Amino acid sequence: MGTEDENKIHAMFLPYMAPGHMMPMVDMARRFAAIGTKVTIIITTMNALRIKNAIDRDIKSGRQITLEIISLPSTEVGLPEGCENMISVPTPEMSIKLFHAIELLQPQIEKLFRDFRPDCIVSDCLFPWSLDVANELGIPRIAFNGSGFFNLCVADSISRYEPHKNIKSETETFVVPGLPDEIILTRSQLPDIVKARNNFSELFDRLKESERKSFGLLMNSFYELEPAYADHCRKVLGIKAWHIGPVSLFNRDTDDQVERGEKASVSKHQCLSWLDCRNSKSVLYICFGSLTRFSKNQTTEIAHALEASGYSFIWVVGKVLKTKNDDCKDQEQELWLPEGFEHKMKENGQGLIIRGWAPQVLILEHPAIGGYLTHCGWNSILEGVTAGVPLITWPIFAEQFYNEKLVTQVLNLGVAVGNEVWKAWATEDSTLVKSKDDILKAINAVMGNTEKATEMSKRAKRLGELAKKAIEEGNSSYNDMIGLIEDIRLYKTTNGVSANCDEGAKMSSIRKL
Ligand code: UDP
Repeated sequence: MGTEDENKIHAMFLPYMAPGHMMPMVDMARRFAAIGTKVTIIITTMNALRIKNAIDRDIKSGRQITLEIISLPSTEVGLPEGCENMISVPTPEMSIKLFHAIELLQPQIEKLFRDFRPDCIVSDCLFPWSLDVANELGIPRIAFNGSGFFNLCVADSISRYEPHKNIKSETETFVVPGLPDEIILTRSQLPDIVKARNNFSELFDRLKESERKSFGLLMNSFYELEPAYADHCRKVLGIKAWHIGPVSLFNRDTDDQVERGEKASVSKHQCLSWLDCRNSKSVLYICFGSLTRFSKNQTTEIAHALEASGYSFIWVVGKVLKTKNDDCKDQEQELWLPEGFEHKMKENGQGLIIRGWAPQVLILEHPAIGGYLTHCGWNSILEGVTAGVPLITWPIFAEQFYNEKLVTQVLNLGVAVGNEVWKAWATEDSTLVKSKDDILKAINAVMGNTEKATEMSKRAKRLGELAKKAIEEGNSSYNDMIGLIEDIRLYKTTNGVSANCDEGAKMSSIRKL
């Protein structure tokens, strides 16, 4: 019999340096620690500062959680010092540099795994090589890709059947074959990499392969949200997956909620006191995630639509695309809004504008929030669903158009603004995406007093209740979390003595599909 400490599972977490990846993985790591697992998170210096307070609170409350801090070679690749996260990169060129700096971390991280010899590696799928080191050490690698089951199913179907190749134009619709529901897309909504091979295709193939060969996928989702797709993934695609979300709910106290991700640009008090003065379900929350860059023209249209709607709102103003004609200072450009708009909204009390980072979960969970205009990042969708609010969908890039279809075509939980074109970065020739009228129409459809809006709101509320229930003891996400720990333990006891035998055979003997 070992000591209690020796019997603990030691899980090492390797999150990717972008908020939409890092935040949910840190939530997961903290949850693992909360249920008695020993946890180490590998993280770079600046990113460590983003989570240090929360981890300190965990340690104080007796959880075994440690940060292994490594240094990112930013200056070696020409990045400004301190630029260690996708949220900090101002241009596409800079994001490629960060990507390369992160690649250079591989030897440092591999050494950590070899030194610590944990019982499992929970790795972002963007580190495909972590599978090789897990295999070398004879431990399971659990992959995290930040999306939901629906996205996995749609992406698989499109890559398998290539329905977009049988249509004539970018705007013609097609049905995604072989899915539980009729999902309709256009070619213009597909990610570039799906339509044609590019510089990232080789890496993407590697990611997919290492995902397939992993012990399984850790999902930030809950069964009741997308049951047909969770089943499809497991039974039709043959993917072993544990859904343990919504992970944002692991931030139970308001300090955790306010400090999640980045330092918030508004205080808890400012947010809550503003919201407390508003009627129940009367406020629209607008946020386009951590990476979207809009043009000034687009921001103007949003501002005008918000004002014209008359609804109270909280708008997280993101960064604005810089064009070569801009002659004002960087600072002003990034925080740009139509002249006098912010002052007017403050004076008449219609809107709270947050420049920079918002404590999103804290805001969404407030009873005054009645709708959420979102870019359809997976975390944001889940957080909106969890808060029980209907959504206005405005996907921009990544897998956001797929996520939108889950909301509008399956769950019937939102209304689309109507963006049809996938684009990673706004450019000077495509600065205007949607007009004031399009935006206003979608806002009214969700916030208005119609039967349709009331029904949507009721469905959202019901799903929010199911989300909260899912993580409680005895329910779906809780059970999967415990099941995962048991699977890791079983792997350890079954394979611990035979680390050099064939990995594929070992995994298939353990997996319960
Ligand atoms: N987020 C936040 N405050 C902000 C902007 C974003 O807390 O001002 C969080 C949001 O709650 C979500 C994450 O950042 O958890 C964004 O992830 P998502 O997958 O929605 O989109 P991405 O930023 O990756 O496009």
